[in-house]
This record gives sequence, C-alpha cells and structure tokens, in this order.
Amino acid sequence: MENTVTILIKNTSYVVGFKNDSHYLLKNGQVAYKGNEIIYVGKNYEGPVDQIIDANNGLVIPGLINCHVHLANSPAEKGFIEDRGSRNFHMLTLYEYLRAIDMPYEDRLKVMDFSLAEILPTGATTIYELGLGSEEMVEKIGNSGLRAYIGLSSCPSKTYTPDGKRIENTKMDLDFGYQRLEENIARKEKYEGSYHDRIRFTLFPGQDESTPPEFLREVKRLADLHKMKLTIHVGQSIQEYEYIIQQYGVSPAQYLVDNGICGPDVFWTHYVLRSGHHLNPLIFPGELELMAETKTNLVHCPWVLTRRGFLMESMQMYLDKGINVVFGTDTFPQDMLNDMRSAATSCKIAESNPFVGTAATVFNMATVGAAKAFGRDDLGRLAPGAKADIVIVDTNNMEFCPYRDPIKILVFTATRHNIDKVIVDGNLLVEHGKALDDRQEEARKNMQEVADRMWLNMKNADWAHRTVDELSPMSFPVE
Ligand SMILES: [Zn+2]
Repeated sequence: MENTVTILIKNTSYVVGFKNDSHYLLKNGQVAYKGNEIIYVGKNYEGPVDQIIDANNGLVIPGLINCHVHLANSPAEKGFIEDRGSRNFHMLTLYEYLRAIDMPYEDRLKVMDFSLAEILPTGATTIYELGLGSEEMVEKIGNSGLRAYIGLSSCPSKTYTPDGKRIENTKMDLDFGYQRLEENIARKEKYEGSYHDRIRFTLFPGQDESTPPEFLREVKRLADLHKMKLTIHVGQSIQEYEYIIQQYGVSPAQYLVDNGICGPDVFWTHYVLRSGHHLNPLIFPGELELMAETKTNLVHCPWVLTRRGFLMESMQMYLDKGINVVFGTDTFPQDMLNDMRSAATSCKIAESNPFVGTAATVFNMATVGAAKAFGRDDLGRLAPGAKADIVIVDTNNMEFCPYRDPIKILVFTATRHNIDKVIVDGNLLVEHGKALDDRQEEARKNMQEVADRMWLNMKNADWAHRTVDELSPMSFPVE
C-alpha cells in the first residue's frame, strides 16, 4: 500500500538544504516528507502532519552515496591486509594477500549480512554493490532497506600470482563472461525497480587487464541496449598499466575509451596510477583529459590508498580538469565519513595546500556529485521532490562542541557514532545510531565465525601455503 504519511523533522540546529544547484545551511530549518518524497525544506512548515521527529538540535543532511562496495568480501580483509604489501608487485595486496582470502558461498552471505548491518548506521543511504549478485544476495540488499545499484562480476579471467614473483591471468573464459552478462540482464529483468524502486541493475565487467576488447565491446552493446550504468576497476596497479601497454600499446584510459567503456553512464573505479603519478614512470599524456572529455565518472576510494602508502595526485587536479569524482569505501571500514575525511586530508597532503580538499568539496562529492553520476536529480539533496533519504546527526556531544560550521565538523571531527537517525525512501531504519531491526549483534557473531574459519583455511588458499600469522604477523607477540 502506498505510504502517504507526512512526517515533519523539527528542532534542528541546521538543515543542509539545496537550491540554485547548491547546498546551503538553513539554521533551525525543518524538513517535511510525505511517503518517500520530500515536500518541504524551510523554516516553518504549516501543512498537515501525521508525525513529528524531534531532531534534538541535530544536523540534518542528505543520505550519503557510497559508489563502490563489495559487501560479501571487504570486511574479511580487516585485521589482515593492513601493514602488508607485496614487494614484487609495487606493494599492492591485490594479487597475493587478497587471493589468500577464500570463503565458501554460504560464508560470503554472512559477510554480506555484516556489511549491510555496518553500512546503514553510517549514514550511507545509497550503495553501489559489486559482487556475485545471486538472487538471495539481491534480496538481502532489498530487505536491508538501502537503495542500491548492483553489478554482477562478469570478469572472464582472474589475475593472480602463481609464485609470488610474477602476475598471470587465468585462461580467458569468454563463454563464462558472456554467460554472467546474460545472468546480469536476467537479474535486471526480474528485480529492476523492485523494493519500491530501491534496487537497480548495472554491469560490472571486472577490470581492464582481465577483459579483452571484444568482451568490452559486448559489455558496451548491452549497456546501451538495456540502458544500464556500468563500472570497471582500472588504473589501480602498475602491473595492470604495463600489461595494457604490452597488449594494446595504449594507456588503460585509451584502451577503455577505444572500446566504448566511457561516458556519463560509466564509473571508472580508481584510476590513480595515471602516468605522471610519481609511482608511474610511463608517459601517456592525456588520460585525465580523456576522462573529462568523455564525461566518465571516477570513483575515488581514498582510504584504501592511504592505508597502502600512496595518494591520488591529486584529487583537486582531477576536479580541476572537470572530472566528476565520487567516493567508494571499497574495502573497510565501510564508512563514508572516514572516506570523506581521508579524501580531504590526502588531497591537502598531495598538494601541500590546506585550501584544497575542503569540507564543502568532499560533502558535494559524496552527495550531489554521486547523484549526478547515477543520473539522479532526486538523490543527494534535501529539496522538495527529492527522495526522502535523510540522515540526522547528533550534535549533543564532544565532537560537535564548539559548534559553528556543521560541514567542517562532519568531515574533520565527527565519527560514524554521531549518526543518530537514518531514513531511506521515507522509512526510518536507524534510531540512536542503531538499526531498528538490530541485526548487528548476530551479524558480528557470524562474521567472527566466518573469519576464524577463513584464517584457518588460509594456508590452503595461499600459493606458498603460509598460515595467516606468517602472511600477516600480529602487531605484538601474543602470550
Ligand atoms: Zn573494488
């Protein structure tokens, strides 16, 4: 049955409203929404109201948009890949450490439960999930209450190391890739627009080095035919960069553009190790210009980079070129506030300049910038006509004192634990920082059991049969 209840949020400190194409700060503002749609943002709503939410001096912001998550994988990397890197592979963890993480499908479902329970109270209301995309996974996401874009991994080959010295691709299995694309389309036909239109489907061909030109062109054909967004990992390792040059003689950016994987409906994830980055000695000018000219969106996952010891050089340069840069948490923590802070500070470090990577810049990227990438003018903003994806941040705490500029505090001081209420599509899902269906406790218990099994099994998954403690020693001796 259509929800037509009108709810008024009042007693706020600030509402981040949106008009004339920009966020603005509305002191002691009010927000009213009817069903899943915002109907009023202003100082004094006078229409009929069925219910009132007392914000208790809270800060009201639009729901954040997390443009890159792997729900069934990422938390399993925690406590393992930090402080590690493969010297033979430019310190990446991708080909050796992540390959040692192996779980049966049933365990991946539990990791996904954990991710969904983790993400919702952090203030993200829309996610872009990339993974196996089975029907039960889609239904888990739908039932979580989140708004989600989903892509099934349809990569026809895997990149790995057989010996810790070199990288290889498994044999290109195009039939598998095409079959996965078909499954992706079938899933779209079954679920697109389901869960009150919170679920939508996209394509996810994996990464550039594992996808030959004919496969990419088929992805492009299907994306056009079915009007689907798509995302691909690219520009994330030097090995990948060199491989593309050896195979095709062009930069990864040119390779994707040549095969149609570009444009306003496309998200390139990473593209950090462009030529000109101090870790990339190769010279292929014009990569950022290609991204800008084709209006391709770029998903920046800053925390993954800084944790590994390098930066995007620099986020401000990408923005100055006119590229729509958005954020994804990619690994852990799946916490957009952490991403925003990390993006802001790493941009300042890359440029040695405090005037770049501002709170306003990263707030825009996590809201209206991401909404633009999805082609949605009803997300990432609080304005009449927009979806009621709303977050109320508690300000009665040490983080918000002294309280002057709410966006600066949100980006540079607040934590996920300051998030009080999360509303998605007009449904109140989080209150006092806790999901109302309280899945967290069971999800945590199951996640620990999954991880204990995975760590025990690691010696079977690792190419050199090392134990988890050999691959990633504990920080201090354990007695
Ligand atoms: Zn990823």
